[in-house]
Amino acid sequence: MADRYLNFTGTAPGRFLTRRLGLPQPAPLRRWGAEHPRFEGQLLHLTAGESAHADALGKVLAGTGLDVVSSASADARPVAAVVDATGVTGLDSLAEVHAALHPVVRSLAAGGRVVVLGAPPSADDHHQAAVQQGLEGFVRSLGKEIGRGRTVNLVRVAGPVADAESTLRFLLSPKSAYVSGQVVQVGGAGEGVAAAPDDWERPLAGRTALITGAARGIGEAVAETLVRDGADVVLLDVPAAEADLTKVAERLGGRALPLDITADDAGERIAAFVPDGLDVLVHNAGITRDRRLANMPAERWSSVLDVNLASVLRTTDALLAAGAVRRGGSIVATASIAGIAGNAGQTNYAASKAGIVGLVRSLAPRAAAEHGVTVNAVAPGFIETKMTAAVPLFIREAGRRMNSLAQGGLPVDVAETTAWFASPGSGAVNGQVVRVCGQSLLGA
Ligand code: NAD
Repeated sequence: MADRYLNFTGTAPGRFLTRRLGLPQPAPLRRWGAEHPRFEGQLLHLTAGESAHADALGKVLAGTGLDVVSSASADARPVAAVVDATGVTGLDSLAEVHAALHPVVRSLAAGGRVVVLGAPPSADDHHQAAVQQGLEGFVRSLGKEIGRGRTVNLVRVAGPVADAESTLRFLLSPKSAYVSGQVVQVGGAGEGVAAAPDDWERPLAGRTALITGAARGIGEAVAETLVRDGADVVLLDVPAAEADLTKVAERLGGRALPLDITADDAGERIAAFVPDGLDVLVHNAGITRDRRLANMPAERWSSVLDVNLASVLRTTDALLAAGAVRRGGSIVATASIAGIAGNAGQTNYAASKAGIVGLVRSLAPRAAAEHGVTVNAVAPGFIETKMTAAVPLFIREAGRRMNSLAQGGLPVDVAETTAWFASPGSGAVNGQVVRVCGQSLLGA
């Protein structure tokens, strides 16, 4: 659905009027496109505290293709700034984060990126834990104030910084346009099998991905993005959506699997459809049946819990037990900010989506140890799809604006985050729940 307000604020009278009235000023986001796959310009590599990662990080940042510099020239407008704060252990070194970014933050290009690299807060050193946790508040606040389509994220590095390469490439690219205010830990949560892809442009070449709920909306975008990244795709949706599903599959050169994911034997039927196994399993199918609890019949509760959570638990268990997700593979589930913040009228939906968060955090270390597979979740915020087009106008408009980027996301934003999790380079990214919500004001 077109965001007319965003289009209006892109015109000169629209800009004038909305500024005078103090209304939100959404900046058009620059997303990935075949013509402009990455940013161009300067990347500022800044350091706060004593970093053990300086050289290795320099190599990783060079992989972004940006012009890495350690200080900005007077007239430059860097497109990104990375502050290595892994060595921040006390208040003095925390102040160096302020000192590093304060002079340059205003000059950062519109649509630019700030990434702060931190370390996991220590269980043994409460001074280090205090200031490393402090980085989270810093990042979330800067994300809320920085404006002009710029994003700010925190990456906690628990192992070698080389493990963060896929994450930094993602966060420092147009692919992460709608991801802001997030904290991602790399390493330390039990790891899958990390292998730098031969070709970073097609990291899924030779790999097979199955996406549930792929006939439309976010699932269709995920399938399209994984195909761009080289994957062979299997698209699953309910038999009633077979005509649409087949069209999408034909367009993408994939295979259609009409199947209700709530069928008891759905896992076995998927395994039989892909006898050589899967590398990427994306649990995207989902439904809403909103009612306040007092008005919610049991059927509304159980249908939502069945599609959104029970089927994810069942099929994941069946496919892992059958060895149908290959080593080095990944499982990506779909949560929602509703599962994090809660929403009136969505006790069923929010329970199912919070359940996904619980599933991911518990299963991730075991799936990595026993199967060499990572388990992560995307938690979309307000994404422009048929699901949100059905939301009443006023609530829809509030949902669109109540985030740091003052606009709804697109299905492709969720798809790009899924593709980052699915990349073989992301083997050290495990047990993470990343919100694709433009830093929604709902749910912190
Ligand atoms: P959508 O309704 O456009 O698409 C969902 C797809 O899932 C449909 O094609 C549907 O047929 C399929 N599906 C439903 N039940 C199924 C079943 N039993 N078996 C197989 N397929 C089934 O929804 P969307 O907006 O693209 O959402 C995709 C996912 O993202 C869902 O899990 C949703 O909860 C989540 N999400 C969406 C938003 C948003 O703003 N759109 C926000 C947060 C989370």
